[in-house]
Amino acid sequence: MALSNAAIVEHLQQLLSADQVNTDPVELQRSSVDNFRKLQNIFDVHTMREPLAVVYVRSTDDVSRVLAFADEHGVNVVARTGGTATEGGLESGAEQSIVVDGSQMNAIVKIDAYNMQATAQCGVPLQLLEDEVRKVGLTTGHSPQSKPIASMGGLVATRSIGQFSTLYGGIEDMVVGCEAVFPGGGVSRIKNVPRRAAGPDIRHIVIGNEGALCYITEVTVKLFPHLPENHVFLGWTLKQMTTGFEALREVMVAGFKPSVARLYDFEDGQLHFSHFAKPDECILLFMAEGNAGITKATAEGIAELVAKYPECVPVDPKFIREWFDDLVWGPDKVTREDERIRTTRNVNRTTEISADWSSINQIYEAVIPRIRAEIKGITLLGGHSSHSYINGTNMYFNYFYDLIDCEPEEENDKYYFPIIDIICEETLRFGGSIVHHHGIGKARAKWVREEYGSSFPMLQTLKDAFDPHGVMNMGTIIPTN
Ligand SMILES: Cc1cc2nc3c(=O)[nH]c(=O)nc-3n(C[C@H](O)[C@H](O)[C@H](O)COP(=O)(O)OP(=O)(O)OC[C@H]3O[C@@H](n4cnc5c(N)ncnc54)[C@H](O)[C@@H]3O)c2cc1C
Repeated sequence: MALSNAAIVEHLQQLLSADQVNTDPVELQRSSVDNFRKLQNIFDVHTMREPLAVVYVRSTDDVSRVLAFADEHGVNVVARTGGTATEGGLESGAEQSIVVDGSQMNAIVKIDAYNMQATAQCGVPLQLLEDEVRKVGLTTGHSPQSKPIASMGGLVATRSIGQFSTLYGGIEDMVVGCEAVFPGGGVSRIKNVPRRAAGPDIRHIVIGNEGALCYITEVTVKLFPHLPENHVFLGWTLKQMTTGFEALREVMVAGFKPSVARLYDFEDGQLHFSHFAKPDECILLFMAEGNAGITKATAEGIAELVAKYPECVPVDPKFIREWFDDLVWGPDKVTREDERIRTTRNVNRTTEISADWSSINQIYEAVIPRIRAEIKGITLLGGHSSHSYINGTNMYFNYFYDLIDCEPEEENDKYYFPIIDIICEETLRFGGSIVHHHGIGKARAKWVREEYGSSFPMLQTLKDAFDPHGVMNMGTIIPTN
């Protein structure tokens, strides 16, 4: 027989300690949503199902005991570390849900400068790890804009990517090993080695699982030399995105590895570069870093390639450095943005996709006019490419809208869903991926079968095998209907 809500809370208090089980009504309300429905927290209107408790785990053993209990009694587990999720991954997908919060598992286990790797518990904010490794002249190379708040568990669980991805890769290129707890409480440790060919790479069952297969308790990531004295910044203005994509492609295909490679359209660009770019100008920018000789050759080579495009007009590199210095989002910027939304009822959202070089501009050109034509109240609509590869790039659509005839709690249905539907439809039509780095969460789960196509049964099989009772983050990645 199923346990009552009160009995579940009581069992958890006995399993851990009473102070690890938070049932404060305000905390439960705030924990019913993430940034996907952030307006509910900003305007304090709550319509979503609340978890029964927020459970603060302090060790792998705590996680193991909680997951064994949840699996036995059919309690849905929502894993959380930094809480910066944008796609509804932190919403309670079932009536009897608990949030298992790993933010108190916040120890840096080891910084191994000789083997160039660092091990951290899931609740270590990336900024903290980065600050520590910088003290010994190293960097993780990972710098998502949420770096001050997002933590190692969530960063791995969402397949996150940072600003320097073109040189260091996404988190999947950085994780060398990890520890994870599976439903039922079993603990698996994947050892840290430079490479393996011992069958499929099972790190990828953990990386990107969004709490729908397992709970990540510890991760080991690579480290790199940090040489800020060698940083070089380059920027150009230009009139057309097509030219920018061509130049970006040439740089990537030629084998250059800038740490940052970005192309902003004019409307998105005006948010950052209006002090030097005209309102109809796009911006192409690069940053090179690392070893002095390689950095110099990278910057010179890129400048030579871009010079082949007369449309590209160089800008003073100091502007690009200034932009770079103000990129990350800590709690202060988040609070300022929430306050802006509360007072103006003007909302800013983003959606990121990827595609090959042949398709990316087609997707961009299909999405922008459709959103303008089909969605009322748009006050800004643009996008940028921020992560490039030899075979393609991403597009990060950035849009603002006024809430017209719309209560804050209706925003997702009236605005966000119709917009992401357009973006996903057009991306799939041209063969791209509907998610470049924020995860599927619950927001994009309805598109997942089309995203995977004939490989969807492989994903479903993983879910069925690792989470046979369906207690891990129900509705995340795999939709419930
Ligand atoms: C202002 C802002 C800027 C952002 N910039 C970027 C960016 O540049 N690049 C980028 O990739 N993303 C970005 N994001 C998205 C977000 O920060 C990332 O998805 C990040 O990886 C989430 O980490 P977190 O610790 O906050 O995870 P949470 O928000 O706690 O959780 C995210 C997801 O992972 C699951 N999860 C959390 N912890 C665990 C665990 N220990 N085990 C298993 N599953 C777990 C959760 O259930 C949820 O589905 C941004 C978000 C914001 C709000």
